Amino acid sequence: MSVQPNTPRTLVICGHGMVAQRLLERLCDQASHPFERIVVLSGEPSAAYNRILLSSLLAGDADEASLRLQADDWFERQGIERRQGDPVVGIDRQARQVVTASGHRESYDQLVIATGSRSASLGLPGEQLNGVVGFRDLRDTRTLIALSQRHRRAVVIGGGFLGLEAAEGLRQRGMAVTVLHRSAHLLNRQLDRVGGALLEQALSARGLSVRTGIGPMALLGNQQLRAVQLADETLISTDLVVIAAGITPNAELGRNAGLACDRGILVDDRLQTSDPAIHALGECCQLGDQTFGLVEPGYEQADVLAQVLAQPDSQARFAPAVIATRLKISGIPIFSSGQTDADEHTESVVWQDYETDCYCRLLIRDRKLTGAVLFGETSDGPWYHECIRQGDDITEYRANLAFGKQYCNAAA
Ligand SMILES: Cc1cc2nc3c(=O)[nH]c(=O)nc-3n(C[C@H](O)[C@H](O)[C@H](O)COP(=O)(O)OP(=O)(O)OC[C@H]3O[C@@H](n4cnc5c(N)ncnc54)[C@H](O)[C@@H]3O)c2cc1C
Repeated sequence: MSVQPNTPRTLVICGHGMVAQRLLERLCDQASHPFERIVVLSGEPSAAYNRILLSSLLAGDADEASLRLQADDWFERQGIERRQGDPVVGIDRQARQVVTASGHRESYDQLVIATGSRSASLGLPGEQLNGVVGFRDLRDTRTLIALSQRHRRAVVIGGGFLGLEAAEGLRQRGMAVTVLHRSAHLLNRQLDRVGGALLEQALSARGLSVRTGIGPMALLGNQQLRAVQLADETLISTDLVVIAAGITPNAELGRNAGLACDRGILVDDRLQTSDPAIHALGECCQLGDQTFGLVEPGYEQADVLAQVLAQPDSQARFAPAVIATRLKISGIPIFSSGQTDADEHTESVVWQDYETDCYCRLLIRDRKLTGAVLFGETSDGPWYHECIRQGDDITEYRANLAFGKQYCNAAA
């Protein structure tokens, strides 16, 4: 990577997660960029790692070494300076400096905030008790693994993909796990009612205890967690509670520095905040009324921001796309894209194999596919996703739609 001449400038990045790492890699891929120094400041003691694999680490299917995204010498070769385990606590926009918890000051010409998000607090009495853990980073995961070796019972609050992965990981480590999910069915953002019920059935058969349509009222104990009290006054005795019911963007740095913020740090489609010298991306940012909870949109933002920073006159812009979710919970493939539930404007094509519990629901509006929910057999998922994204007219092969790409191509 060569640096453009006569532009001694410093880029500082706050937060070294998956999206910040993608930005670094894309910047280094450019033939040239305008920065003499690139400094990345990490709140965690390690360099960026594959956060998605924390679920595999918890389940015992991956080790810590396999989570690494780049070796130390990659950063050295690229001339990227790293400061780890020293979170940024303030931004002085006037002086164009950030200050870290240890008091270190770093001057910037351009600043990028990539601080991600954290497990949302539920505001429950007892959330501060020992034995109550989030599921966000390596430290949480190590804590969960250690607790699973000492205790038998766990309650996971949240039946979204994060909660279910935590529950499955702990179950595989030998714990008796109860999942509490406030909505009427599991994975309610990705699955419809039938898909959610099939998933509940499959997870129950593997030994998870699942309770839907009910939430916790309080976590009980005296310093050490002892039980969860439910809305119907039932008590579940437990040694561990994992809170995995949504995420909150880490927007405080931006908010305290006076940047325009809502739930996240507000950005435009070039990832610029209300201060032209500061950009934000990944799970800490908000575009319009949308925040982000998956890695793919963060990667697309990083690709755009690398171009914006390297060539300020480039026309690169970020446009949120329909995101497909492909999950494998306890070995059960699940795929979902676009709309998941029918409304008064959509029709549904449903196919279900009662013997194998494979299920497919396709939602159609104005001769176009608007959503796909697949459970058990998901190989055609990417093709449905493309149909949704491109807004293809499906009239010619509608009768074959549930049978997938091969049948539809033959019918077209
Ligand atoms: C267990 C788990 C499983 C997941 N599985 C999937 C999946 O299957 N598919 C998918 O698409 N997504 C998944 N995700 C979500 C995915 O990991 C995130 O979308 C992605 O990591 C977001 O990247 P980010 O860089 O915005 O934030 P992060 O990766 O969270 O990185 C932000 C970093 O900034 C640091 N930081 C915060 N505040 C400061 C500060 N003040 N100073 C310095 N550093 C700071 C944080 O400690 C963190 O290291 C999963 C997440 C988890 C936790």
